[in-house]
Amino acid sequence: MKITRSSDWRDSLPFDVPVIAADAVPGDPTRCATCGVGSEPRDRSSLWAVKHRHPNNPAGFVRFYCSAHAPKPAPAPTQASRTRTPERRRAPARPAREEKPAALCPNCFVEVPATGVCGMCGQPVS
Ligand SMILES: [Zn+2]
Ligand SMILES: [Zn+2]
Repeated sequence: MKITRSSDWRDSLPFDVPVIAADAVPGDPTRCATCGVGSEPRDRSSLWAVKHRHPNNPAGFVRFYCSAHAPKPAPAPTQASRTRTPERRRAPARPAREEKPAALCPNCFVEVPATGVCGMCGQPVS
């Protein structure tokens, strides 16, 4: 059987959302996939059709479930995103200390004090 994507009735079904089988796939009474072949066929108005994702077929595949076995619709994503993100503790801002290399007097090669004047020879060093 060829899969014709464009006219596939499955295209109109959302994935993983139970819909009344009689609406989605009208037809003869069929069985719940979970109840199995040993169960009585049910009227499609009392069955749920659920389109599942198929690893090899982008159109997915549809299974029928009785009301007891129909998968619950996925919870609204807003609930999951509502979870509070823990407050991020900020690392204490370290003051950016200017790593100014100590000025050295070019003559004496000693550290020049904050005055900018060499204590040895008196030469101003910037
Ligand atoms: Zn069932
Ligand atoms: Zn000096």
